[in-house]
Amino acid sequence: MPASTDDRSSAPSRSRGPSANISRRALLTGAGAAALLLDRRTVQAQGPSNATIVFSHTTVVATVDAVHRDVALAVEGDKIVALGPTDQVLETYPRAEVYDGRGKALLPGLINCHAHLAATVARGFNEDYGFPNSARLAVQPASLLSKEEATLMVTVGALECIRSGTTTVVENTSGISDSAAALAQTGLRCVFAESVRDRENGRGPMSAELLAKSETPRFSPKLRDQGLQRISELFTAWHGAKQGRISVFPAAALAEDASPELLHAVRAFAEKHDLGYTIHLNQSHAEVDFMVRHHGLRPSAFLDKHGFLGPRLFAAHCRYVDDSEIALLGKSGTIVSHQAAMAANRGVIPPIPALREAGCPIANGTDNNTNDMLEVMRVALLTERIRRDDPLPGVRPQPEDMLEDATQGGARAVRQGTLLGSLEVGKKADLIVLDTQRVHLVPALRIVSAWIHNGQPSDIESVMVDGQFIMRNRKILTVDEGSIVAHADKVGQRIWTQVQAAGPIAVPGRPRQR
Ligand SMILES: [Zn+2]
Repeated sequence: MPASTDDRSSAPSRSRGPSANISRRALLTGAGAAALLLDRRTVQAQGPSNATIVFSHTTVVATVDAVHRDVALAVEGDKIVALGPTDQVLETYPRAEVYDGRGKALLPGLINCHAHLAATVARGFNEDYGFPNSARLAVQPASLLSKEEATLMVTVGALECIRSGTTTVVENTSGISDSAAALAQTGLRCVFAESVRDRENGRGPMSAELLAKSETPRFSPKLRDQGLQRISELFTAWHGAKQGRISVFPAAALAEDASPELLHAVRAFAEKHDLGYTIHLNQSHAEVDFMVRHHGLRPSAFLDKHGFLGPRLFAAHCRYVDDSEIALLGKSGTIVSHQAAMAANRGVIPPIPALREAGCPIANGTDNNTNDMLEVMRVALLTERIRRDDPLPGVRPQPEDMLEDATQGGARAVRQGTLLGSLEVGKKADLIVLDTQRVHLVPALRIVSAWIHNGQPSDIESVMVDGQFIMRNRKILTVDEGSIVAHADKVGQRIWTQVQAAGPIAVPGRPRQR
């Protein structure tokens, strides 16, 4: 692993704005007030509509550097239209529905840039077996799901996304069309990253065993064309659907399963349609060894050679990158999607400080089994602090940095930075409402710090996407959560009975050897 150079000063990496406790007077007249003043242009447009909602007397984390206390935020249609003193906002929107925001905090919705939602079915049998999964189950649980049951598992994952504060999720898999309608129905903002591979003599992710018997990769134009066709059809059917809530991006599955032609085609599709694109990258030692053995280059260098790196790419993982790859990723402006919780499960901390230093914007994702981005932010904070080995440990990064990665960083990765990632006038109303009156959150002057260190998903009482509540007062409004959970449990019991019947399930290291 490369050493993370740390020649920056020991001061926190970003200066924090002075607005953590901005006064009413400052809101109206002080520096920075312009951004907070009501957008008067919207007043005439309001008319008799009752589609406006005002969150009153509340705390608003507008950006991580601008936390406003005792203010109101107004949403009209799909947009934030005002942020300012409650009496003024209510005066401007007298017919608005009022959401009492006392004892609450509004945060930008979290953006999960790398999920495999159907992997909920393998909970408990993926997190503890290393990567690639060494469980060697006689039959894979996912293979026992019907198409409808796989969609059910996707929906369970999506419900967990909502309950843990995610408003945008990038679902990365192949064959998304099967579950696209169900995912759209949840009300989440979605990016469908349809994933393609074209290696025909084996498929990754690479393991030591697969590497030992691997041959020079052969690539199939047929597999490639079929995959590109799937992307094209999904794009035609879904890109821009649900008032723009759904996007479709192309994805190469894995470095070890991609030909140069596939990499070119994925990037070309993204450029033609002004999209982002993604890939799993530098996930394991076995992947690196496979690429060096068969291509003579480490994975990121292979992608660089074939023109795949760049600011449209958000590459997932980048765990095992050396200094030369870090330099290539940084120079190209490639975004790194960091799945901190899954990386920690895999016993690895990616060199995030060095990647940041090199110029890579950082976004976050959950990867498999869990879809809890609050947990991801917390693990990312702790593991990056460990990784830094600063002279004064425990200072960098700050919780605000983590929230920035999970909101503005994610917005950049999904190429909606002007619409998402912060709660500012003119942006989309994608937000979460925290109940701050909880034993683990009071007293908390720095709500971002308190929530990332001590928070729980159950602190989230409401979630809004595109100006619509998809959860309100802890009730999911878009799908029937109770019946979905009951059905998924029933299916899961059947699947695991079948898996156990097919062969023994060993837990590594158990019983414990002393
Ligand atoms: Zn993945």
